[in-house]
Amino acid sequence: MELYTTIASIKEALEIGRSKGFTIGFVPTMGALHIGHLSLVEEAGKLCDIVVVSIFVNPTQFNDPNDLANYPRTLESDMKLLSPIRCDCVFAPTVGEMYPDPDQRKFDFGNLERVMEGRFRPGHFNGVAQIVSKLFDIIRPNKAFFGQKDFQQLAIINELVRQKGYPVEIIPCPIVRENDGLAMSSRNRLLLPQYRECAPLIYITLLEAKKLSSKKSVEEIREYVVDQINGSNLLEVEYFDIVDDRYLTSIENWSTSGGKIGCIAVFAGKVRLIDNIIFDL
Ligand code: AMP
Repeated sequence: MELYTTIASIKEALEIGRSKGFTIGFVPTMGALHIGHLSLVEEAGKLCDIVVVSIFVNPTQFNDPNDLANYPRTLESDMKLLSPIRCDCVFAPTVGEMYPDPDQRKFDFGNLERVMEGRFRPGHFNGVAQIVSKLFDIIRPNKAFFGQKDFQQLAIINELVRQKGYPVEIIPCPIVRENDGLAMSSRNRLLLPQYRECAPLIYITLLEAKKLSSKKSVEEIREYVVDQINGSNLLEVEYFDIVDDRYLTSIENWSTSGGKIGCIAVFAGKVRLIDNIIFDL
């Protein structure tokens, strides 16, 4: 496993592999790695000859300066976690390397960027598109791996690839959870003990909502989820919506055709957690 911090050095290394006909699998991350991230890296190793992981806390996707300042940065332990699995290149550039000048680009993802995360984190997906497009231009992967935990991000990336015509296949990977059901997240390590203890209620409630969906209307399920989670006192729902899985528009009836997914953001103290569940009605 080699660590690269400059664009020129990783490009040069990958050019050698590419000229030998090797395929490149790419896993973009912001570091503070956990088993969820590693599952993406392992999937990349199964499907590609060269595995590249980027570790970069991208400032342009943070709308809250405190969130950016508090985001865990743990490159040394990240490298240790990656060492037993197949990861050929780690790309960990500085902010100056990625943004020598401010990135003024504005992307337009329509409804996909206006709802849910987009509504509560203005500019977030523009920042995601800025960094992912830069990384795709540098790494030029054949396949890129993204977690379904960030379901809306996955929809945005698919749309980015469609709009810009990147020759990359986007591979969605399932959510990895702690034993108690809490979706793994780099932010979990910021949870104070009392919040960590009640955070599993998010997934417990989503599972119960899925069970109840054969008996209750969409609106009743929305209310149920918000009431259950807010009822814990320590957790506060920022949004919960049930949307179609392509355009992310709110659905009113279970009879709406296509996939349906419930997406949630919850504050556990100062830490913001997201999760989702597929309703297969
Ligand atoms: P992040 O470092 O949070 O930007 O995440 C990097 C990638 O890992 C994204 O594609 C995430 O969706 C994915 N990811 C984060 N947490 C999980 C998880 N618990 N299960 C599966 N994928 C995850």
